[in-house]
Amino acid sequence: MPREARDELLARWEPVIGLEVHVQLLTATKIFCPCPNRFGAEPNTLVCPVCLGLPGALPVLSREAVAQAARAALALGAEVQPLSVFERKNYFYPDLPKGYQISQYRQPLALGGQVEVPQEGGGRRAIGLERLHMEEDAGKLLHDGFPWSTTRSGVDLNRAGVPLVEIVSRPELRSPQEAFDYLTALKAVLLFTGVSDVNMEEGSLRCDANVSLRPRGQAALGTRVEIKNLNSFRHVARALEYEAERQARTLESGGQVAQETRLWNADRGESAPLRSKEEAQDYRYFPEPDLPPLRVAPDWLAELRAALPELPAARRQRFVAEHGLPDYDAGVLTQSPALADYFEAVARASGAPKAASNWVMTEVLRKLKDDERPVERCPVPPGRLAELMGLVEGGRVSGSVAKAVFERMWSSGEAPAVIVEREGLAQVSDEGPLRAAVAEVLAQSPEQVATYRAGKASALGWFVGQAMRRLGGKANPQLLNKLLREALDGEAPPGGR
Ligand code: ADP
Ligand code: MG
Ligand code: ZN
Repeated sequence: MPREARDELLARWEPVIGLEVHVQLLTATKIFCPCPNRFGAEPNTLVCPVCLGLPGALPVLSREAVAQAARAALALGAEVQPLSVFERKNYFYPDLPKGYQISQYRQPLALGGQVEVPQEGGGRRAIGLERLHMEEDAGKLLHDGFPWSTTRSGVDLNRAGVPLVEIVSRPELRSPQEAFDYLTALKAVLLFTGVSDVNMEEGSLRCDANVSLRPRGQAALGTRVEIKNLNSFRHVARALEYEAERQARTLESGGQVAQETRLWNADRGESAPLRSKEEAQDYRYFPEPDLPPLRVAPDWLAELRAALPELPAARRQRFVAEHGLPDYDAGVLTQSPALADYFEAVARASGAPKAASNWVMTEVLRKLKDDERPVERCPVPPGRLAELMGLVEGGRVSGSVAKAVFERMWSSGEAPAVIVEREGLAQVSDEGPLRAAVAEVLAQSPEQVATYRAGKASALGWFVGQAMRRLGGKANPQLLNKLLREALDGEAPPGGR
């Protein structure tokens, strides 16, 4: 649908969005058994009678998993409940040999909390959380990549019993962009807290998106559709856009939105109905008889709270206060602890935080994105980038040459001074060659000289560009400016300009 048509529809209909996010916790073992919690092992090598769901095997709750879940809750400002209850969520699927998932329902681990999302005109808005509960992950079906894949699917139960938290937002998000920003902010909190590696490709964060529309100005919520199979934050936003548009068209033509679960197809850029929405009663939840209620002692909780690291919001505010960064920069740089650490190391080594922020936010992030590399594997260490900034600051290389040097550093890992030396990229600050270039440009451009002298001072930039090109971009720009001005203004006829 063309943009204007969509905007017109959404001027009448307000999207209401709530996200359910599943996050795998970083722990040594699974939630109810001593099997390792690890991604990428040979199928069915990290299993035992408990996570295989063999009859008679009994679950034992991992203290470490509870600690990680409680940390996540505390970092999100949620209220950890002194008592919560595990329940069986009963359903059949081949990746769930027990026939039920141990989850929490009526009495979850934590209630409330919020995630702050940036607003278009600046500032932030808190999106409320309904609850955060603990549960076990299910196994995974293997549909391709095996000799028998054309006729059969396999089941890998390594993931069965991996500890999860589900974080459920209130229906308070108002646009696909806001949903994207919510996920970005939530991810940052989880990364800073160290509770998860939040890697959507490896499935350690999974998101279902709920969306309904209501006439703008109406308080009551419309019928929601739940979208599954969302593999990246981008897909979440795109799927929500598609769905909001689809619902708006249905409603405009007098139809009704069916409450259903839909599957997003990223290749086709559209969703298709999967099933009509299940209700809680379909799962026949009942308290897990093999686990006692979970009691969280206040002292232990206080210890966990006291040991929380600096969270993204605090770090962002510190970047503004301590390094004098704009709030926008500080927000981008605190999306992950690794990125924030990288920036701070460059800022410290260079002594120039704002310049460090510019380098990290433009060149470094662009190259990381091109290479699809996390900042942890950035080939240019912070100290090297600071050296390069020092060369610019000291007038050894111009800003534009520095970008080229940075490209070389990225691929070769060499020190910037070595590259500048070998490739003769040092900035030319000798007056001789600069004067020669200035004279040449003036001699070859009588018309432009006349225009300039007739009063068009803004034409100076054109001369700078011409002379710079002759000098291979390496001229010291201040000096070049000065010499050009002298040459142009000095020879001006008396009374001119
Ligand atoms: P279920 O397991 O049935 O999907 P949950 O309580 O786990 O229910 O999740 C409900 C999610 O749907 C929450 O994120 C909530 O904010 C969102 N939601 C509820 N009602 C609406 C609605 N009318 N429109 C959009 N989102 C909604
Ligand atoms: Mg749901
Ligand atoms: Zn096990």
